[in-house]
Amino acid sequence: MSPAGLWAAASAPAKTNLALHVGDPGPDGFHPLETLFIAVDVHETVTASINSHVTRRGSGVLVSVSPAPGSEYAEMIQSGAARLSDIPLDSSNLAVRAALAVCAAYECNPGIELRIDKAVPVAGGMGGGSADAAAALVAVDALLARHLDRPRLGRERLMGIGSELGADVPFMVLGGLAEGRGRGNDLRAVETGNQLHVVFVPQDQGLSTPAVFRQWDRAHRATVDQGSAQAPDPLNRTLVTAAAVGDAAGVATWVRNDLQPPAIELLPELAALLNHGVDLGALAGWVSGSGPTVCFLARSAQDADNLVDGLRREHRHAFSTTGPVEGAQLIPEWGTI
Ligand code: ATP
Repeated sequence: MSPAGLWAAASAPAKTNLALHVGDPGPDGFHPLETLFIAVDVHETVTASINSHVTRRGSGVLVSVSPAPGSEYAEMIQSGAARLSDIPLDSSNLAVRAALAVCAAYECNPGIELRIDKAVPVAGGMGGGSADAAAALVAVDALLARHLDRPRLGRERLMGIGSELGADVPFMVLGGLAEGRGRGNDLRAVETGNQLHVVFVPQDQGLSTPAVFRQWDRAHRATVDQGSAQAPDPLNRTLVTAAAVGDAAGVATWVRNDLQPPAIELLPELAALLNHGVDLGALAGWVSGSGPTVCFLARSAQDADNLVDGLRREHRHAFSTTGPVEGAQLIPEWGTI
C-alpha cells in the first residue's frame, strides 16, 4: 500500500458461450467468430494500489494471485487439481497488461500493485484471464482518476483498450448477454429477462486455446487449401431469443460450440462427461469456449444444485452459477482511499 493508501478494487464475471461459430482464418491467422456470450456469477476480484517502489522494478506493475476463499478454484488448488504456478506473474499476465494499458492512456505510471483473488479455473474456456484484465481495467481507471484528480476513462473507452488485450476482454467489461462478431469484440448487448442456471465442471487439465484452434484448422484445412474460406455461420435467432427470455429448454435445443469437436479430439474423456451430465438430469451439456470446462444447463436453481451434488459425489469439481450478470464493476464498499 502506498503512503497515501490509495487503492481501488473491481470484480469481473466469468463467461461461457451459448453459441460459438468459427470461420476460416484470415491472412493474419485469426479466426472470425459469431458468438453468444453469457456472463455468469462467478467473479474474479482485482485490487489495485499505488506503490511507488514498484516503478523501480520491471514494468512498473507488480501482481500477486491467491485463490478466492470459498471458491471451487480454491478447492481445486487445495486438492492438487490446479496449480497457482500456471498463472504468469510477469508482463504476460493479462491483468498486468490491462494496468499498463490504462497507465498509458493516463500517460502516468506511479507504480501499481495488483492483487487477484481468483475464483475462475485457469485455461478452462471461462475467460478467467480476460476477467482479470477487465477487473484490472476498471480498478486501475478508478485508482488513477483519483490519484490524478481527473475524470475516469469510463466503460466504453475501457472496452476499446480491452479489445487490444484479448477477444473476450471487452465482453467481460460489458457483461450480460451479448452477440460477439469478428474476433468476438464487435459486441451487441441483448436485453434479457429471466436467468439461466449453468453448472460448470472444471477439469484437472487445461486446454490451450491456440491448440484447440489448431485442431479445428486441421479438420478444415481442405476447404482453406481450395481458397474457399468459409465465414462463420450466423447466430441462430431462436437461440438468441430463448437466451434473452431465460427459456432453458429453448437454449438446450440450440446451444452450439464449433470448438467442442476439436476440444474432444484433444481430451476424449469430455465426450463421456457430456453424456453423463445429461443422464444426471441436465437439459444439455457443452464445452465452454475452447474448453476443457464442461457446462450443463439446468431447468432451475434446485436442479443445478442437485446436479452439482451428484457430480461431487463422484469426486468431480462442480459449481452452479446463474447468468446473465453485469460486467466488471468497481466494488464501492472497498472505496478508493
Ligand atoms: P479464453 O477462454 O479467454 O481463451 P481461458 O479461460 O481458456 O481463456 P485463461 O484462464 O484466461 O483461459 O488462461 C489462459 C492462459 O492465459 C493461461 O494458461 C495463462 O498462461 C495465461 N494468463 C495470462 N494472464 C492470466 C491471468 N490473469 N489468469 C490466468 N491465466 C492467465
